[in-house]
Amino acid sequence: MASIRPETREMIERLVGFDTTSAKSNLALIDFAQHYLESRGARCRRTLNAEASKANLFASLGPAAPGGVVLSGHSDVVPVDGQSWDSDPFRVVERDGRLYGRGTADMKSFLATALALVPEFQAQPLRRPIHIALSYDEEVGCTGVGAMLHDITENLPAPEMVIVGEPTDMRIVNGHKGCYLFETRVKGQAAHSSQPHRGGNAILAAGRLIAFLAEAAAQKRRAAPADSPFDPPYTTFNLGQIEGGKAINIVAQDCSFTWEFRPLPGEDTEAIVAAFEAHAREAVLPALSEFAPGGAIETARLATVLPLAPEAEGAAESLVRRLSGVNDSGVVSFGTEGGIFQAAGLSTVVFGPGSIDQAHKPNEFITLAQVAACEDFLLKLRDWAAGG
Ligand SMILES: [Zn+2]
Repeated sequence: MASIRPETREMIERLVGFDTTSAKSNLALIDFAQHYLESRGARCRRTLNAEASKANLFASLGPAAPGGVVLSGHSDVVPVDGQSWDSDPFRVVERDGRLYGRGTADMKSFLATALALVPEFQAQPLRRPIHIALSYDEEVGCTGVGAMLHDITENLPAPEMVIVGEPTDMRIVNGHKGCYLFETRVKGQAAHSSQPHRGGNAILAAGRLIAFLAEAAAQKRRAAPADSPFDPPYTTFNLGQIEGGKAINIVAQDCSFTWEFRPLPGEDTEAIVAAFEAHAREAVLPALSEFAPGGAIETARLATVLPLAPEAEGAAESLVRRLSGVNDSGVVSFGTEGGIFQAAGLSTVVFGPGSIDQAHKPNEFITLAQVAACEDFLLKLRDWAAGG
């Protein structure tokens, strides 16, 4: 059975012990991590959300110089509500070579391993910086990390590479689709169902908008690139929820629906949104408003996860290949913060311990073997950062 360093185990226990479900504050974890890092010589920067209830933490080791690598992970976890766990989700339990607890796979073990190795990182002078980045609100649409990235690009020498330690079983992932989430609200005007010419039917309007999205989805499917590594190999759409109307004999006044699309890297996402908005404005709204002067169609962007595009000869992927000895790479179907880093010009790869199969589930776990492999990799990274 694989063994891991006691410091790593203790750090996993500490991080899992903070209930950082996305709906809650993560400040207790951030306070702990910042104190730990600063007392070991790291330079730390925080960026807060608007309510100052959550924070990103960006810690730098080694020279205050451009280059180097960012080890990036999110501090938040998904809820345990309604899940049936065999043990307390926020207390790590070991059984059969596995550590159980919320966030063990997704993705506190990666962050904990990096933190636990900080004394090793500091044991010899680093010639290239190693940064450790902890974000908030990844699990609710990657909405936290942007503030940290803004702070880095404005105020710090630019790092060269980012390793996002999401659970990939220590396999190299160089691409994923994005995810754009929306809610569209249609407001018409109620009338007796026998008098459609005195109202505006919001459900009818919503139906025309939905048909437009269905057609957009069919077009993307027909135009699937032959060489796409993704499954399915095209940009997909989904209608997730719909609500509207009061009774069969009333012209429906309100209707709202949520929808998403998951673009391939390189997809012109703004063109998709603009086409939908134009159809709403130019075709659907005029019909809705004919007898309903207050008619309105409003679409709100709920969250945006940018796609991660495989980089030709990407610096981050090359480094991970060299240090890990892993020789192939692939794409995954889940989104990460990686696309946001990449869009800011940083070479980015996803590579971390644990399996996405265990993420978000009851009895989430990570194997000790995966943690040990992550330790090995990060020590090689330390040697790279310290060496010539
Ligand atoms: Zn995650």
